[in-house]
Amino acid sequence: MSISERLHEFMVGRIIFPSTNYLLDRRAIIANYKHLLKSQWYKEDFLRELQRKKLHKILRYASLYIPYYKSKFEEIGLVPQDIKTLEDIKLIPPLSKQDVTDHYKEMVDIRLHSSIPAADNRAGIPGAPLAFARFRKHTLIKSTTSGSTGAPTIFYEDGVKSALNWAYELRLKNWYGLNPGAKEARLLRLSTGYSPRSMESRGRRWFWGQLILPGTNLSDEEYALCMDSINTFKPKVLWGVTSALNGLGEYVLKQGGSLGSYRPKVIIGWSDPLYPYDDEVLKSAFRCPVTSIYSSREIGHIAGMCPHGSFHINEENLFVESEKISTGANDCAGELLVTTLGVSPMPFIRYRMGDLGHVAGSTCSCGRSLHVLKNLLGRTGEIFISKEGRMIAPSFWGLLFMTAKISGAVKRFQIIYTKSKDIKIIIERAAGFSNETEKFIKEAVTKNFSKNTKLKLEYIPIIEPQLSGKYQMVINEEKIT
Ligand SMILES: [Zn+2]
Repeated sequence: MSISERLHEFMVGRIIFPSTNYLLDRRAIIANYKHLLKSQWYKEDFLRELQRKKLHKILRYASLYIPYYKSKFEEIGLVPQDIKTLEDIKLIPPLSKQDVTDHYKEMVDIRLHSSIPAADNRAGIPGAPLAFARFRKHTLIKSTTSGSTGAPTIFYEDGVKSALNWAYELRLKNWYGLNPGAKEARLLRLSTGYSPRSMESRGRRWFWGQLILPGTNLSDEEYALCMDSINTFKPKVLWGVTSALNGLGEYVLKQGGSLGSYRPKVIIGWSDPLYPYDDEVLKSAFRCPVTSIYSSREIGHIAGMCPHGSFHINEENLFVESEKISTGANDCAGELLVTTLGVSPMPFIRYRMGDLGHVAGSTCSCGRSLHVLKNLLGRTGEIFISKEGRMIAPSFWGLLFMTAKISGAVKRFQIIYTKSKDIKIIIERAAGFSNETEKFIKEAVTKNFSKNTKLKLEYIPIIEPQLSGKYQMVINEEKIT
């Protein structure tokens, strides 16, 4: 790295980015980042003890200042002292998205209730940061989930979560050899009014070293423009919704795959799972490592994939459990429950993520003891009860289509459970698809479902994403009214 590049990264990463974020109430990004670099090497026992202490603190806080939890704890006759170990958290009933929708205002710290009207009346995009927040009386922000999988959930937050998200991203980039301030292209889901010359885009480019690009499926002309900007800006990181990055990768391959002298150092996908097909496209188009972030709007970044392929949970500030549910053959996946361990205006305790996964101890060769998320392959709403009463989790399909035998033969797939409990599989074929592939899929389905279940395979040129840019792996027509 040249001296001027090093100087630029230092100026952006250590001075301008953290100080401008400070004005947006996102404080201590670099201090948090430095701390995360140390805490990732904590020994297992030390990490659990740290979580236990933080859990105690958050429960005491919730019982004093969060009206919703105060009455919930009273209702079940629980005092924070009853929770002696991390296991004891099971005494607290999980929190559903519906609970949040019904009680979100009671879930805010009572001392901040006077700030709720100001947050509610603020114009602009929900969740947008507050300029010069340090000089304002009210710093509570109203935000909402994207609602791509149902009705949006409303919640309140301050700048702490966003600051932590930045710190986690810096740690993830550090795993791939990058410093704070490394140039980055961010493919964002933008409104139709997006313009590369907007104040925000320009500000982020000059002050944060971020090139903002549109992050939904684009036409070839638009991809060409994106690649021109990328070739000029030369970002070390390509960051975006996984399926949008994949679109860009496919465009590059279609053009013959020549990137000239440009090579990113890492690609970070988020929001969608990273399917083997995406991984393959991105690696062959950009010839660099590909990683992924598991995240939610309400909670923030939950886990990131290390260079050894493990999805390490950001356990310093989160406690993640997987609730066991019986799903027939896929027993090692349950609904993920997340508890935020830092004091925040609206803490989430045992929050149902709606995602299926499995939390396992780390045996990762990177040596980090942060627990690992496995089988992150779908949403709980996608569970299907077959004609013979068997529960089929979406991970069944994820695993089936990821088997080495057919993973290179299928670009995308979509499962449709019909109202009559039959199955339709829609397939976007890749070059390696053959009669053998079809036979393999049919056999796997016949083996796992009764003979009464009818199976239909349908091939289409392209499976379109939803409006949000996400792909829906499973559609249960029974649940659509
Ligand atoms: Zn690892």
